[in-house]
Amino acid sequence: MKEIFESRHFLDNVLKMAATSGFRPRVLGEIDMEGTKVPILSLSRKINRQAPRILISAGIHGDEPAGPHAILSLLESFPDDWPEFKCCHVEIVPLINPSGFDLRQRANREGMDLNRAFGSPAPPPEIRFLMNDFRRRAVDLFVDLHEDVDTPGFYLYELAPSEDKAFGSLIISALRKAGHPINEAPVIEGMAARDGLILRTSRPFPRHFRKGAPQGLYLKKLGARRTLTFETPPGRLLDERVAMHLLSLRTVLSNWVR
Ligand SMILES: [Zn+2]
Repeated sequence: MKEIFESRHFLDNVLKMAATSGFRPRVLGEIDMEGTKVPILSLSRKINRQAPRILISAGIHGDEPAGPHAILSLLESFPDDWPEFKCCHVEIVPLINPSGFDLRQRANREGMDLNRAFGSPAPPPEIRFLMNDFRRRAVDLFVDLHEDVDTPGFYLYELAPSEDKAFGSLIISALRKAGHPINEAPVIEGMAARDGLILRTSRPFPRHFRKGAPQGLYLKKLGARRTLTFETPPGRLLDERVAMHLLSLRTVLSNWVR
């Protein structure tokens, strides 16, 4: 897969793929980048009303290109290759931080880490657009695609209803079986980890998000039953990191029972 370095080029590709894969694009809002407007897009594909809802987001950190590229690959292969999605409403936010994507930096061009801004009283526009949309309906499952510059292998965060219902170990074994590297450290990012999984089954929520929270915590507060955050190792080739995200997603979907 050829890497894309420019947000508008990336979003043009997303729109092309969305059109051929049955997704309807919506513009949640536009951000001003040096006089030109760049949209924050959400794609959705709806089926019957009772179906569970999954939200997948990518590109909140601009220097983590595997997530957005995994979305492109997913859209490209969607019509033929993703029967797992037939059971649910799918929403995809392919690129939350276009200015950071263009600058190849974690923060947006104003220097703000957007994944610490959900629920704050004065969020930056990118996050305000998402919060306005997310508040309209709860999702059942939220998946966030990230990369971690410091990790030698894949790992993930999971907020699950209970330990025996967690998907994390299923994801890790699927990746290991496919030959991908796993971060086996007992502590990752200062948190206890077990075989690539940082699991929380209940977590006290900050009473208010005065300074802002990560997207996963915010969605959990809005009612998501389960949130998963995948972290791929940028030391590997883009194709492999995209493959890790997609295999993880497929493992989740094939085990997901509402
Ligand atoms: Zn990240």
